[in-house]
Amino acid sequence: MRQQLVFLLQLQQSDVKVRELESAVKQLPAKLDPLRKDLAKLQGMLDGERAKLAETDSWRKSQQELIDRERDSLKAAQSKLQASKNSKEFGAASREVENKRKSISDREAELKKVSEASSSGATQLAARDKDVDALRTELATSEAAMAEQLATLNAQLSEAKAIRDAARAQVELKWVKVYDSLVAKRGYSVAPVVKGICQGCHMALPPQLNNILARMESIEMCPRCGRLIYRKELLEPPAEKSEEAKAPTE
Ligand SMILES: [Zn+2]
Repeated sequence: MRQQLVFLLQLQQSDVKVRELESAVKQLPAKLDPLRKDLAKLQGMLDGERAKLAETDSWRKSQQELIDRERDSLKAAQSKLQASKNSKEFGAASREVENKRKSISDREAELKKVSEASSSGATQLAARDKDVDALRTELATSEAAMAEQLATLNAQLSEAKAIRDAARAQVELKWVKVYDSLVAKRGYSVAPVVKGICQGCHMALPPQLNNILARMESIEMCPRCGRLIYRKELLEPPAEKSEEAKAPTE
């Protein structure tokens, strides 16, 4: 019976380990989510700014075309001015020249303002591109490190599962059933008794039961929480507590 208890304890310990590793494996990838979100957000902003700049560029081109056309019509107006034969024609032609000049100069002033804004926008964009690149490198480095961590965790997990399955195979079927139903009901199944008190539910056991436990001839259950109980000092000597559970000597 002592051996069965040792196997049950091993099963419990390896079950705990498997569960811890499984949850670590599950939670690890989410750790980089904030960084991924930041990067996506920045990238989205930059894409928006880039689209705006492209729009401005095409607006500038069309403005420049308009200015070129206006220069042509200015030339035509100037020829008309030179060819004017009387003061009426001269007056009309010089007003036209004046209007064209003003229109060209207004358009050029506007174009200059927009070009300056767009150039400073392009400089800012280049700086932010650099920031995003740095962030992307950081993410790639973190992802590589995480992939390594994950591989290590998965290796530990398969090892823990192998140990658990081996322990499970050693426990008699009826106790496996009791063990599983206790895990489902209570979270864990095997509890040590210290100074006559069940460590699963902190109830003081009847002294008679505590004496039965001392003999280790049977597997007993705590009358209150139903867990499988054992006297801690008999299975886990203080000095080599974990050694004992992992490598039984009997
Ligand atoms: Zn109990």
